[in-house]
Amino acid sequence: MPPLTQHTESLYDYMRAWRHDIHRHPELAFEEHRTAGIVADQLESCGIETHRGIGNTGVVGVLRRGTGKRAIGLRADMDALLIHEQNDFAHCSTEAGKMHACGHDGHTAMLLGAAQYLADHGEFDGTVVFIFQPAEEHGEGARAMLADGLFERFPVDDVYAIHNFPSLETGRFAVRPGSMMAAEDNFEITIDGVGCHAAMPHLGRDPIVTASEIVVAMQSLVARTLNPMDHAVVSFTEFVTNGTVNVVPSQVVLKGDTRSLTTAVQDHVESTMERIVAGVCGAHGAEYRFDYRRNFVPTVNTAAEAQIAARVAARVVGADEVVGDSRPVMTSEDFGYMLQAKPGAYILLGNGVEGIGGCSLHNPNYDFNDDILRIGADFWVELVQSELAAA
Ligand SMILES: [Zn+2]
Ligand SMILES: [Zn+2]
Repeated sequence: MPPLTQHTESLYDYMRAWRHDIHRHPELAFEEHRTAGIVADQLESCGIETHRGIGNTGVVGVLRRGTGKRAIGLRADMDALLIHEQNDFAHCSTEAGKMHACGHDGHTAMLLGAAQYLADHGEFDGTVVFIFQPAEEHGEGARAMLADGLFERFPVDDVYAIHNFPSLETGRFAVRPGSMMAAEDNFEITIDGVGCHAAMPHLGRDPIVTASEIVVAMQSLVARTLNPMDHAVVSFTEFVTNGTVNVVPSQVVLKGDTRSLTTAVQDHVESTMERIVAGVCGAHGAEYRFDYRRNFVPTVNTAAEAQIAARVAARVVGADEVVGDSRPVMTSEDFGYMLQAKPGAYILLGNGVEGIGGCSLHNPNYDFNDDILRIGADFWVELVQSELAAA
């Protein structure tokens, strides 16, 4: 499905070639040296002021036109995943165990296409800041760029990001005001009892029973302590003991992951969790240690910018192809840190429903859908030309 706009039509072959090249050479978090080099060289070849090494392996391009004071940030992510690709097409990963299974190769190519178009033909008045971010997958890249003074050195009024989304029809956009993606936290609960002979449990203090009750009690956290209109997920993912077949262990470690859509719910989950752990351990005379680490903040779109994104998307693909009140997603995204610093919006772009486009993210058979390269790049061009419209 071609876009209604034709801005980057002539750049399609380039975007596709960049995308396939980056896909062939995936790089993990903060190792994106080759990818960042391609990005920076390409920005420089367009005459765009280019800054390498922002937030370790990040790249920033600055394109100014006219005398307008407004500035807009456009963000793409560049890192790949520790997954062994199981596709067999020509642009398959050449790095064993590494793969662009989240489509960041496509995000990078789309933003490079938009940068090329805007440098050559862009009609706008103000400043565009192109943000090529490393290390999204583990939630560190956005923070690294912010810590490196991203928005102090390259001030913007608002900031936007696109992520492809399998299961959403090819080229369809989805966005919403408010929480778009969840916070992700990880927890580790260590329960110390007293180990003993499996035949003489009364001589010990069995931490397995205590830990099991914690797992069961935690099922009421979302169901019975959270407002039904709020959303959270609490998942235990590991239950590790130091026991053996005829020995009651002295220690159990429970690990897991929680998701929530607002900071208030995130706070509620953390404090309720510790209360339940303390209560159950107290009842059984077990000692505990509760470690709770916040990895991703929620990705929260500001209302005005979500509306702007929906309006711009409608010009690119038609109003019928834009969902302006989409449901939030419980996965996480570190663009949320940039949205804590600036107004803006994170918008999803359909990677397709059928075939490879519909294959889920982080799957060894996933691939970014080249049919949406022009749509994403035209979205960026339309966004800049409308938000920084020449007077
Ligand atoms: Zn991902
Ligand atoms: Zn991603």
